[in-house]
Amino acid sequence: MHTSIYTTLLAPNASLMSGPGTNTIVLGREDEDGALVIDPADAAPAHLAAIVQEGERRGGIRKILVTHGHPDHAGGVVELRDQLGGVPVYAFSRQGTPVLDHETPDGTTFRVGGDILRALHTPGHRFDHLCFLLEGAQILFAGDHISGITTNVIAPPDGDMLDYLNALKRLQSVAIAEIVPAHGPEVADPQARISEYIAHRLLREQQILSAMQQLGAGATIPHMVALIYQDVDPKLHPVAAYSVEAHLIKLEKEGRVERSADTWILRET
Ligand SMILES: [Zn+2]
Repeated sequence: MHTSIYTTLLAPNASLMSGPGTNTIVLGREDEDGALVIDPADAAPAHLAAIVQEGERRGGIRKILVTHGHPDHAGGVVELRDQLGGVPVYAFSRQGTPVLDHETPDGTTFRVGGDILRALHTPGHRFDHLCFLLEGAQILFAGDHISGITTNVIAPPDGDMLDYLNALKRLQSVAIAEIVPAHGPEVADPQARISEYIAHRLLREQQILSAMQQLGAGATIPHMVALIYQDVDPKLHPVAAYSVEAHLIKLEKEGRVERSADTWILRET
């Protein structure tokens, strides 16, 4: 018998963006529900073999779930499906994950290990992002919505800061005992982490607004980055620029700033 309802298998895809690699989740108990996989992540044969073997110990893999269509999550899906004789693949939308078999809207539920796993549409990191909540155990498999390592990347055109903050706020009313992110270790104090993420983004937004005030009309993103990220290695400024742009797009949607070619202007409120 397994004490835990899930096993984490680290995919061999470490990189600048995915840190130590992606956590592939194999979920289930040896019962009539069988097992599920979340994010196969990588097609390396040894990784796929480990997933299949762990799945067999948990009643056999019946379904493959994908949190979102980025290659470090949806990688290995086709190969794993073939190896398992065509088990169905579930993801939010065909637009996000072209290889899926079943589009999976918010609220879709799966039975596993005598518990219910519920798909939560949490756009922001990407438009098609799903978290999966194991309701009885209150475990949130968070994909890239919440990272176990650092704050995660919200960058245009994939990322949407307004959606992201709204999806984080939605989780504040969900009972969560443990977060299992796709990158890095488990998060034991979920609501503290979620509040911290929201506060971090709102602080950054405040810094952008004051930078714009300081720079006046004609402020460009590189001007703002140079001001806000003075203490950060200039090599990282291009990445910071994406984050600032994501914030500006949110503020533009809210009617608080306006874009004029490459420059940004504060609107009177
Ligand atoms: Zn991602």
